[in-house]
Amino acid sequence: MIRRKVLVIGLDGTPASCLFAEMADHFPNLYRLAHAGDFGILRSCDPPITVPAWACMMSGKDPGELGLYGFRHRPRGSYGKRELVHAGFLPRDMLWQWLGEQGGRAIVIGVPPSYPPPAIRGALVSCLLTPRAATAVAQPRSVQTLLAAVAPEYQFDIRDFRSLDDAALFAQALSALRARFRFARELARREPWDLFIVTDIGADRVQHGLWKLDGSGRWGEAVRRYYAMVDDEIGQWLAELPDDLCVWIVSDHGAQPSRGGVYLNEWLRRRGWLKLRAESGGPSAWAPESVDWERTRAWAEGGYIGRIYVNVRGREPSGIVEPRDMERVCEELREALANDFILDGGLRVRVQSYVPRELYRDSLGAAPDLLVYVDGLRLRVFEGLRSDTLYAPRNDSGRDHANHHHDGVFVAYDPKQSGRGWRGVLPITALRQCLEQQLRGDPAPFSAS
Ligand SMILES: [Zn+2]
Repeated sequence: MIRRKVLVIGLDGTPASCLFAEMADHFPNLYRLAHAGDFGILRSCDPPITVPAWACMMSGKDPGELGLYGFRHRPRGSYGKRELVHAGFLPRDMLWQWLGEQGGRAIVIGVPPSYPPPAIRGALVSCLLTPRAATAVAQPRSVQTLLAAVAPEYQFDIRDFRSLDDAALFAQALSALRARFRFARELARREPWDLFIVTDIGADRVQHGLWKLDGSGRWGEAVRRYYAMVDDEIGQWLAELPDDLCVWIVSDHGAQPSRGGVYLNEWLRRRGWLKLRAESGGPSAWAPESVDWERTRAWAEGGYIGRIYVNVRGREPSGIVEPRDMERVCEELREALANDFILDGGLRVRVQSYVPRELYRDSLGAAPDLLVYVDGLRLRVFEGLRSDTLYAPRNDSGRDHANHHHDGVFVAYDPKQSGRGWRGVLPITALRQCLEQQLRGDPAPFSAS
């Protein structure tokens, strides 16, 4: 039995440190919700990345239980192949499916991975992974027609966010934000719903593109202005929604200023774990066909974190590490990463690595053998090879001023319960249960530590 109506507004990549420090001065609507309700850190999953983080939030499962370790999925036993994740990777018991079985209706906009859009009891609009040429982007089709009519400029992701100049990126993100809220508000008026979830990817993109490296560690003017617009949109929407509505503002992970990145495959090559067919001189992009797999024990995938795979006999096509030696090899690698990651100038870099069983209750699919965090995620991981250096101050895939952080946010407002303000840390996988309880009308929707 569904007794309450719940609105969830997702602000992709919103960091607890900046949002809470600035809301009293700059974000009156968020401040009001937080102090009349509860707020705290929503601690992201490992890795703290959009995929799998939203899926963890809405399923209650960790990435290992989902078998989702990032945007790109490595099929078991492959070196080069990586498949972009899609809605088919989600389990069948997502929050909206549970709600449908209880007789409730959900409207879901932009929760990744949700392309191609699955049919649910209610309506669903696909996410940032929607291809530009996609023809089916929402279920039912009437919602797609409404989208085209109400917000023809709607963007699934901020187009070209890594290549636009500052002013163009800001304008693009703002236009996308307004289109998204205009459409969401119209849909909320027209369709019946018990649960409404809409996420804004612009928050993440604006930080990646416009976070000012001013030494303060805080956002800087452009990002703050964007969030002020977000706050304004939220305030306008809430003014037209029913008074007994429960409201959540959440993010899937946090963010922090970037310090560049390190070449993890280059480090593996220098230490003899990775062998190339021919030693190349200059920098080169990662190319599995140039690796001598018969002599390679481990290699890495890059991104906001590193993922190291061991070349295991019987598991990889040309595996050479015996399965019985896996544990010892991983231990050896971890020790070397922790003690021996030294840049060319002699600077030691803090590297933490984890095996899946330390992080997950299960490890389905092709889990990385080691998840690697460099300098507390301030440094990202490059896949390419550089004989001249292990470090670069800039992202190899375009402009990027922000890296990810585990500390996302939650703000929970229930007009029928007086909140207690600051509530500490809530794990991202706990939110599913909170939302279920609230929809059922049970009191005390969450407990944070
Ligand atoms: Zn994200």
